Amino acid sequence: MDRLRPPRKELEALTPYDAKDVRADVMLASNENPLNLPGELLEKLSELAARIPYNRYPDPLAGKLREMIAEANGLEPGNVLVGNGGDELIFDLLLAWGGPGRKLIDLPPTFAMYGIDAEVTGTEVIRLPRLADFCIDGDALLERLKPGDVDIVMIANPNNPTGTLASETLLIDVLNSTDALVLVDEAYFEFSRHTMRPHMSRHPNLVILRTFSKAFSLAGLRAGYLLAHEDVIRELTKVRQPYSVNRFSQVAAQLVFRERPVFEAGISQLLRQRDMLVHGLSALDEVTVYPSEANFVLFKVAHASAVWRDLLHEHSVLIRDFSRAPGLEDCLRVSVGTEEEVGRFLAGMDEILSRRHASDHFGVAATASRHLEGGK
Ligand code: PMP
Repeated sequence: MDRLRPPRKELEALTPYDAKDVRADVMLASNENPLNLPGELLEKLSELAARIPYNRYPDPLAGKLREMIAEANGLEPGNVLVGNGGDELIFDLLLAWGGPGRKLIDLPPTFAMYGIDAEVTGTEVIRLPRLADFCIDGDALLERLKPGDVDIVMIANPNNPTGTLASETLLIDVLNSTDALVLVDEAYFEFSRHTMRPHMSRHPNLVILRTFSKAFSLAGLRAGYLLAHEDVIRELTKVRQPYSVNRFSQVAAQLVFRERPVFEAGISQLLRQRDMLVHGLSALDEVTVYPSEANFVLFKVAHASAVWRDLLHEHSVLIRDFSRAPGLEDCLRVSVGTEEEVGRFLAGMDEILSRRHASDHFGVAATASRHLEGGK
């Protein structure tokens, strides 16, 4: 046959998640750790890698890693679920708590995958936009929870791409006022150091997400985990892909988790470089910088897409352009890189904006002189 039967009708409205896989000398678009694993861990990993039985399927629930994560968090293994990155776990949550006839509260602008996965799973999305300073509109959220018809709420904390931290009081109020599953996505926990973990025992509807992709330099291997009530984890094991976390990723994540104090100095360094980034951006005329509790900074600049393009094409610096996203007009997001990378980004910004300034002046001067000429 020379025809193709169409897929589900709902896909017509969807566009694939654009991960912007563009290469540049300075990659500051995906909130990764700018440094690969430390040398000593790379060496250990290559020794461990040589002993993996690659012909055998992995442990479906990543038992060893699960035990380590549970112990470190004062929980039981049954409270932990490891996934192929946080992304897979977000999808699992919507497969189990979302679906046709069910509702998600999304708080845009926020991490796009919540909305995308909701649409893919046929979940209705209730969008409650954040306030002008990107804080959650607490009154609107609590009000919308009152009728009791919401199934799941997703809150990135700190929020991506704005860097905003929600107040703990608001999160507790949300947990107290609903039986919906509440995901507090702590993908950037190692930078913010704020967690809702202490509230788990009182709230069986609280789910916490963490990842190995950011502070722990493992974005390339795809590993993340959930902390939740054992009943929640049990339901999720019904919908998840059984072998989604491969043997190599399990071994690497175990190694990194065991050796996590090694990353502390690097995290503190990144936080200092974030200050340098905020400081440098704030010094530029025409740039508004938003405070961040994560390893990235959101800022606003006129003609943001042109700035984004010039940074890439003239300075080989890749950042993320959010200027077409609702609520993020003229906003760009830059991840915290090494000191040198932050320096290159800031120098690029300075050059682009000074050039623009000069040409604006030139434009004004040229117009003025034309007027003068006209008056002669
Ligand atoms: N949550 C948030 C808020 C994120 O920003 C990201 C990554 N961009 C993720 C979850 C997923 O991360 P990963 O799949 O790499 O674990």
